[in-house]
Amino acid sequence: MDPFKIAQKQLDEAAEIMKLDKQAHAILREPKRTLVMNIPVRMSNGRTQTFTGFRVRYNDARGPAKGGIRFHPQESLETVKALAAWMTWKCSLADIPFGGGKGGIICDTKKMNERDLESLSRAYVRALGTDIGPEVDIPAPDVYTTPQIMAWMMDEYMNIVRKSQFGVITGKPVEVWGSEGRMDSTARGGMYIMREAAKMLKITPKKATIAIQGFGNAGRYAFTLSKELFGAKVVAISDSEGGVYDPDGLDIEKLDDAKKKTGSVGGYKGRRSQKISNEELLEQKVDILIPAAIENQVRADNADKVKCKLLLEFANGPVTPEATNILFEKKIVDLPDFLVNSGGVVGSYYEWVQNVTGDYWDTSLFYSKLDKKLTKSFNDTMALQKEYASKGQKINPRMAAYIIAVDRVAKAMKARGWY
Ligand code: GLU
Repeated sequence: MDPFKIAQKQLDEAAEIMKLDKQAHAILREPKRTLVMNIPVRMSNGRTQTFTGFRVRYNDARGPAKGGIRFHPQESLETVKALAAWMTWKCSLADIPFGGGKGGIICDTKKMNERDLESLSRAYVRALGTDIGPEVDIPAPDVYTTPQIMAWMMDEYMNIVRKSQFGVITGKPVEVWGSEGRMDSTARGGMYIMREAAKMLKITPKKATIAIQGFGNAGRYAFTLSKELFGAKVVAISDSEGGVYDPDGLDIEKLDDAKKKTGSVGGYKGRRSQKISNEELLEQKVDILIPAAIENQVRADNADKVKCKLLLEFANGPVTPEATNILFEKKIVDLPDFLVNSGGVVGSYYEWVQNVTGDYWDTSLFYSKLDKKLTKSFNDTMALQKEYASKGQKINPRMAAYIIAVDRVAKAMKARGWY
């Protein structure tokens, strides 16, 4: 299903439950601005290749648009629009002063050398010009984009505006005023949510079994942090090429080794390990399932086979609306992406605050603020779900989070006189 149709469907559902003003609903159903760019890049082989790039500013009623840039061979405008909408709800639920945006380029980074990657990153920023900026729209990393790519983009932007404006992009390397805490803040935020949800469900994280889909920034840190913070046992993990299951728990050094030598964590060798597919990973009998890769993974056709107690959406859009309903009926607690993975953008917000004020904090302050924020978002969501239940209306956690987020954006638009 088209991800943007999914995002609209979720909004429509929330609008109906919360009785959202029709004019506000109409504004929020579509992005404010959509840019599609053809970007010619002179490649290192001397030939010019033209790439298609997108940047969507979904809503900026509460502040400059904020959201990552994805480099993906199957990138599409519809996906970027959906992700920009979800960024709007994510920033609003976290109650940070940003709207939502997202960008993407159709490209395969696995087939590009470093120099071409840099040329493309800089060309994308030249195409955007002042459509980004610390008070306009602030990009960050996402699928297949890295702190190094952010540094090139930031540098190119500064060449355009002829000013030192480090707050134009977040998720930068620390050498150019990125935050040390931002590197793992998506997964760390998710871990704080896991701690709170486990408390609610009376699961002891130390005794819990975990399966993680994805071995990128979110997935790999989810692995290391669940051990570091809780001593939890990750029994299954996968990447785009395949996965591995080991009832004794997996080892990070061996996973890195397998990835390096065979190109996939599926090449892992443990005493009792067995190769599994991405589909099988989702169906493992574990306490906690963490989809941390891409959208549309748990769908109507496989949701029935999911056997966890708690599902934490570290990725954006991994569970479709039909699957959300199936999981809810099965009494699996499925916590939505824009709550669970909001640690990433909250970390970005902290980086931006430090960039624009010039006042730099230590990591412990960064983490303690992150913890407080994420815990509050979780509590707000659960409290609203309870409030509806006390009025006899059963809503899932995603709808509760939507209602909080949409209400804040609608109120800002109202105050600004947009409707
Ligand atoms: N790409 C991340 C997300 O989807 C982070 C966005 C940001 O930090 O702006 O939440």
